[in-house]
Amino acid sequence: MAFLTGTLSPPVYARADERPACEQNGITVYRNFPGAAFDSCAFSKDGTVEFVIRPEDKEINPSPWYAFRVVSNASRRLPVVLNYGRIKHRYLPDVNYDGHTWQPLNDAQVISNPDETRVQFSVALHPAHATTVAAQPLLAGADYRAWIDSLDSATVSTKEIGRSPLNNPLWRLTTAPKTHTLLLIGRQHPPETTGAIAMLAFMERLFAQDELAREFRQQVGILAYPLLNPDGVELGYWRHNTGSQDLNRDWGPFTQIETRSVASDIDEYLGEHATTLIKSIDFHSTWYEVFYTQEDATADNFPALLGNWMTEFERAMKTWRPDFALNRKPSHNADRPTAKSYFFERYGVASTTLEIGDATPDAYTGRYAQLAAESFMRVWLEQSR
Ligand SMILES: [Zn+2]
Repeated sequence: MAFLTGTLSPPVYARADERPACEQNGITVYRNFPGAAFDSCAFSKDGTVEFVIRPEDKEINPSPWYAFRVVSNASRRLPVVLNYGRIKHRYLPDVNYDGHTWQPLNDAQVISNPDETRVQFSVALHPAHATTVAAQPLLAGADYRAWIDSLDSATVSTKEIGRSPLNNPLWRLTTAPKTHTLLLIGRQHPPETTGAIAMLAFMERLFAQDELAREFRQQVGILAYPLLNPDGVELGYWRHNTGSQDLNRDWGPFTQIETRSVASDIDEYLGEHATTLIKSIDFHSTWYEVFYTQEDATADNFPALLGNWMTEFERAMKTWRPDFALNRKPSHNADRPTAKSYFFERYGVASTTLEIGDATPDAYTGRYAQLAAESFMRVWLEQSR
């Protein structure tokens, strides 16, 4: 998995033209990079820098994202406070000293107040490089672009199907169209980077050149929209797009450009290639790994596929991690305009929300997603024989 090595991401150094957000005694804090976010920052007399962390809109899912960059004229440690107001701390900081590698801080390094609305930790500063701190390792539009450019263009075609309100590209990736199509979407919610990593690893497995993936792509075309909310990602939002909407509550109303563009492109693609959807998967992150699915055998198209996939995935995971137990929650909330409900009702397919834990290590996420893709391909090929 080329992506998971992290070497494709451009270096994240401060640029000379950035305006400081706050500074004191040769230490300067910046937020002018994709994904950067905090409301304000201020130094106290003892040299601690305190960040006020606020959501983009009121009444929002508690995913308190933050990201900032610090440049220093000398080597020293910087005490940092994150002040969340009334919201609880959620994401342990990841620190990047070299522009490539993210080092997670652990629970012992991050001191919380009793109600978890304020945390304290420290980071190292060095004059030779910037120190970047983020709620999760950054995965912004440029990183997706670099990943897309690394794909084999003989296997995967990329198309810009439209632009977001802030003029960021909405990408579509496809393999050769076939009579059957697997639909994948991701990054409706900006902070959910572990789900995004799962989606990239899942796609890399589908795009591979081994016999399993080649045989699968002979029968099933892949239709993928990896970055639904590029504006929210660039701006370091907690949940919404710039229209103050949760995009995963807009599948039906379609009041937002992002969801409307993707939904109409899916319809066009399926019509143009006279192809049938077999399944949809929407990648997210939450506190732990979980599959939100429909009940078994409730889909019109290929009703056995979902249950067979879940069984085969659990079996495959157990060969790697014998104590693995599948966490699956079947439900159907017809009144909530989520992507999951929309694809189930409109196309008659089992639609799954694949969630990865916020703190799940990339190596585990990558293998989990690979095995999810492999087991899906195997189950499909078995039932089509
Ligand atoms: Zn989500």
